Order: sequence, then C-alpha cells, then structure tokens
Amino acid sequence: MKKLFLIILLPIVAFCQSAVDELVNPKDLIPDIVIDLRYSTKDHKFLNLPQGDMPLPKFYATNECLILSSAAVRLKTAQDSLRKIRTHNSQSYPQGIGIKIWDGYRPRAVQWLFWEIFPNSTYIADPSSGSKHNRGGAIDLTLVDLATGQELPMPTLFDDFSDQASHSYTNLPPDILANRTLLKTVMNYAGFSEYEAEWWHYEIPYASSYPLLDFQVK
Ligand SMILES: [Zn+2]
Repeated sequence: MKKLFLIILLPIVAFCQSAVDELVNPKDLIPDIVIDLRYSTKDHKFLNLPQGDMPLPKFYATNECLILSSAAVRLKTAQDSLRKIRTHNSQSYPQGIGIKIWDGYRPRAVQWLFWEIFPNSTYIADPSSGSKHNRGGAIDLTLVDLATGQELPMPTLFDDFSDQASHSYTNLPPDILANRTLLKTVMNYAGFSEYEAEWWHYEIPYASSYPLLDFQVK
C-alpha cells in the first residue's frame, strides 16, 4: 500500500518541481515587456569603466532573456499593474507604464568573468557560491513609457556601482524618487524583494535554493 502511494505521489512531485524550476522567456507571457539585455551589447556601463580604458566585451550571445517561470508569473502581475497607470508625476501615459529588462538569467561562466574584473561582493556575487542571476531568480529592470519606449528617469544608469544606486540614497529630485518608489512598490506587490545597494535588482523568494546554471542562450 505504501509502495502504491509513492508510485502515485512521485510523478506529482516531479511535475511540481519542473514547473517552478523551468526557465522561460518572459516575452511569451508578457508580450509588451521590453527586453534590452545590456550584456549582449557593448552598450553597458559595467563597473563604471571609462570608455577607452578597457574594451567592453559582449558577455551574452543574444538578446533573448530567460528567467524562472515563477519569476515570469510575478513579473506579469507587476506589468499588469503598471499598464493601468495613466498619470504619474503629473505626466500622462496613454498606454500605461511598463518594464524593461536589462538582465535575467546569467551563465555562471559570465559570473566568473565579472568577478575577475571586479571582485566586490556588494555588487558582484562571488561565483564560487553563485549569483541569483545564475539561477534565473533575479532580474535587473527599469520602467518605460509603453507608448514611446522611453525610460523613466531613475537615480543612476544601470550598473552604476555607487552610493547613488542605493535605495537609501535620497538626495535626488522628487520625480526620480517617485519613479524608484513606484518600481519598488509594484515589484514588492508582485512578490519580489529589492536589493538595497542596487535600485534595479529584484529577486524571487528563496532564489538561492534554485540550481546554478551555466549555458549560453543562443
Ligand atoms: Zn542584478
């Protein structure tokens, strides 16, 4: 009887695990989300390296984003809320506000490259234990006007590793503070946690419990 119970139960457990562990393209669930994987271009501000000091490599082969399916479901909740906004900071948004993703799943080999260039654990997770990005459970993102695609002004550019990128930094114009707060409020509502040192980084609960992955998206 016990054996029969296990035979029935095991496929159910296996199904539940694969459903939450799966990496998916958030575009499939949220067609109007904007994907701009900065590490798939040379147009990124990684480590604040001045242009010319060091050639900026393309860390990714493609602009296709992957994240855990449970993160994509949460992100849909966030985008559905943002899309309904018509006025914010005295500006009108005829099609609402949306999300632009700068980074999602990141191969662990890329994490080792980041660490080699800048071994600072405030901004770069030590690859020996791995980043939540290597597990598909963390997302770097900002807000855009869905009608124009224009980014809303935020405290810093992406990957500006300075105090100004921190949530506790308040010496900023009120509209920029309101934009950062809007992003945090909506992401918290959708079930993501913020990261204190970087206004653009959010992650799902228990992101560290998912497996570390290391493959390039082609
Ligand atoms: Zn991040």
